[in-house]
Amino acid sequence: MNGNTDTGRTMLAAKIVAPRQVEIAEVALPQPGPLEVRVRVTGCGVCGSNLALWRGRPWFHYPSEPGAPGHEGWGRIDALGAGVEDVRPGERVAYLSERAYAEYDIARADSLVRLPSGTEIFPGEALGCAMNIFRRCDIQPRQTVALVGVGFVGALLVQLAVRRGAGVIAISRRPFALQFARRWGAVETIALGDRPSAIARVMERTHGLGCDRVIEAAGEQEALDLAGELVAVRGRLVIAGYHQDSRQVNMQLWNWRGIDVINAHERDPRRYVAGMQAAADRVSKRELDPEPLYTHGFSLEQIAGAFAALDERPDGFLKAWVEPSQREKASVPG
Ligand SMILES: [Zn+2]
Repeated sequence: MNGNTDTGRTMLAAKIVAPRQVEIAEVALPQPGPLEVRVRVTGCGVCGSNLALWRGRPWFHYPSEPGAPGHEGWGRIDALGAGVEDVRPGERVAYLSERAYAEYDIARADSLVRLPSGTEIFPGEALGCAMNIFRRCDIQPRQTVALVGVGFVGALLVQLAVRRGAGVIAISRRPFALQFARRWGAVETIALGDRPSAIARVMERTHGLGCDRVIEAAGEQEALDLAGELVAVRGRLVIAGYHQDSRQVNMQLWNWRGIDVINAHERDPRRYVAGMQAAADRVSKRELDPEPLYTHGFSLEQIAGAFAALDERPDGFLKAWVEPSQREKASVPG
């Protein structure tokens, strides 16, 4: 499977051509360069961070590159570029890229993480993101942790914090997400919306002290405002939400309480890969259970539906993904 035999072959890839408009285009099959592999994409998670591009912002250019902004891809290695030695075609991997809404994608060999056995769905970048956020939270047993926003990453963080031995307070607008949080061991769940009453509940629960750790995982001004109010003196506010727009913060409050503020998104690819590997290890050991969170699957052709689900968050929605190689399932076992 080298480049020569592929000349002239094409594949299907999604392209966002304008806000809320996506097309499936036939484009050239990409070729792996040195130290790269080509992956036949089994699936790609649909990330909350895609929403700004989908809805439209003045600073984006359309159309997007074919396959963009899919960055939570996984699949089977299909071809190796020069100098790649540690992996074989056919292996199932998650990887880092920006163009995974396509039948095939190119990944650097040093971004590959082998999928845990028995795992069908593995949006590596998103799972790695949760692990990296968790690490930067530095949660200790018996600490009180508030999670503001229980989407996919927030739900994973509930599981991780409970497992670490923290008392978790989950705050979400969506009742079903709070039910999930309860099931995973949250000691308290609070509806997001009425800020004074949410603050009162948390303060009552923490004897007026607030929380040692507060994780904002909604990416909204309202969530950020509430999160800041819930942090104890010398506590830690971890910003896990994806904020594409500028925000205002209550600096006076942050300053007065002397809180640590962490922006927990990693930008170094090596950190991402380390987080993805940590997630794969936890899933293998059954210490992390993302399966119930994969709620909305779509074919590549249905990708507009995936973005719409992300946008509208129907009841029960936590995570969407697309499956570009759905057709492969019938022919390839395991
Ligand atoms: Zn993502």
